[in-house]
Amino acid sequence: MTVCTRREFMKAGARLAALLCLSPAAAPKVAEALSQLSQGNAPLLWLQAQSCSGCSVSLLNSDHPTPADLLTGYISLVFHSTLSTATGHVSMEVLNTSIAQGGYILVVEGSVPLKMPEACVVGGEPVTTQILRAAQGATAIVAVGTCAASGGIPAAENNPTGAIGVPEFLESNQIAKPIISIPGCPAHPDWIVGTLVHVLEFGIPELDDQYRPRVFYGRRIHDQCPRFADYEREKFARNYGDEGCLFKLGCVGPTTHADCTTRLWNAGTNCCINAGAPCIGCTSKDFAREAKFAFYRMNEKM
Ligand code: SF4
Repeated sequence: MTVCTRREFMKAGARLAALLCLSPAAAPKVAEALSQLSQGNAPLLWLQAQSCSGCSVSLLNSDHPTPADLLTGYISLVFHSTLSTATGHVSMEVLNTSIAQGGYILVVEGSVPLKMPEACVVGGEPVTTQILRAAQGATAIVAVGTCAASGGIPAAENNPTGAIGVPEFLESNQIAKPIISIPGCPAHPDWIVGTLVHVLEFGIPELDDQYRPRVFYGRRIHDQCPRFADYEREKFARNYGDEGCLFKLGCVGPTTHADCTTRLWNAGTNCCINAGAPCIGCTSKDFAREAKFAFYRMNEKM
């Protein structure tokens, strides 16, 4: 297990304070939150419902802290059905003991198969039941990824599982716990780690009407886009790889809220629009749910 020094916590705290748009003076408090996570004072239970595990993989793409430091030094990840080294009944005992003790942050990745609980079963228990059981002892519940936030791809038209997002599921079961959604297909690792730290040290971050932290989802992609000047001048790309605004290739940046174009992905390397791909609106509530969503649309006639 990685043991982090105070200096390392302070360095990580300074970086996370920046990604949360906090002043440098907040760095010690953020470092303290990381320290709490590492000591197991704030355990995390990570349940997976109908998901591709892409958001777990995205979390492992965290660069500062690195995946190894994140999992062994900063986060007390008590249960995760994919990353757990324990298997079978040993793994389920860990989950059940943690639920009995309570006091954890519950993370759910994936959508809830409301009409077909048998579509997603973990340790012999439908995930629908498991989420409700785990929600009881949680101090806060974080829906990671668009599937968990609003149904996502599993909720596409004609899916027989009746997939819905975690907030809707909890509300319909009268679970009155603080809920945060971190949509994205996948969610950015900064959004996940930053939200967890904020919950621990500063409480629930300011949220919009879809439970999304405003610090990450407060502005439209369009308003922070490096191709915005092209949009204003009506200089539109006609083919992939062209210069110019990607609107006529199906870009939904004008209606999508996230900070991808300024935060960038893969350790600050790039984002969809910078690479010449239109924004497909993966943080949107309606992402992939209806066949008419831009993700599926043929190029507009130009
Ligand atoms: Fe807006 Fe998309 Fe054009 Fe960027 S590429 S200016 S987000 S329409």
